[in-house]
Amino acid sequence: MKKIIIAIDGFSSCGKSTMAKDLAKEIGYIYIDSGAMYRAVTLYCIEKGLFNADNSINTEELKSLMDDIKISFRLDPQTGRPRTFLNGNDVEERIRTMEVSSRVSPVATLDFVRKALVKQQQEMGKEKGIVMDGRDIGTAVFPDAELKIFVTASAEIRAQRRYDELKAKGLDASFDEILKNVQERDHIDQTRAVSPLKKADDAIELDNSHMTIPEQKEWLIQQFNQATHA
Ligand code: C5P
Repeated sequence: MKKIIIAIDGFSSCGKSTMAKDLAKEIGYIYIDSGAMYRAVTLYCIEKGLFNADNSINTEELKSLMDDIKISFRLDPQTGRPRTFLNGNDVEERIRTMEVSSRVSPVATLDFVRKALVKQQQEMGKEKGIVMDGRDIGTAVFPDAELKIFVTASAEIRAQRRYDELKAKGLDASFDEILKNVQERDHIDQTRAVSPLKKADDAIELDNSHMTIPEQKEWLIQQFNQATHA
């Protein structure tokens, strides 16, 4: 069967990556979490001290170091899921902290960061057979993707899911802080000048506020079957 590109975009914490990972596993495609790449650049900035005291970013220095940032994914043989590597180090856990979550959106507004990451993402999709999730996959990275999905859910439901996820991992979490972070990221992602988060005209919209994970999975497989048999 002909391989296609599947672009899954949407708001933060709306379950895109769970859907995308499950689908990729089921159909034998490669899964790429583009958000993990922006998170890895953010972690790099934190570790290199590129955030100023007022939280602004030392953009000139980051620009000069961009070629130094190598992001890759390797499959975890135990879970069958990809882990994110930054310059050869496994950073999968470190990129998921609240500190990174609260600093990533400003990093993702930087034009030169987006250019560098979009180029790498397009390279990863050259052979097709890929599911990529993010904010601008159907609009900027793969505008010709054969299947585009745009996922939404209310901010409160997304914050609750994120809260439950952190609690389940035994991590300290505050619902109010998470909700604020979700709303702030939505705002920055939707209003930034370069590739703002928006539904591509030809994307299929899914509001999963009241859907279970198995229901979403089934819905997505149906979309995939329709797209590949069209
Ligand atoms: O998907 P995730 O929430 O992990 O993404 C982290 C952040 O990275 C988002 O809030 C957004 O600011 C940025 N991002 C982006 N473009 C993408 C993926 C993520 O700007 N394609």
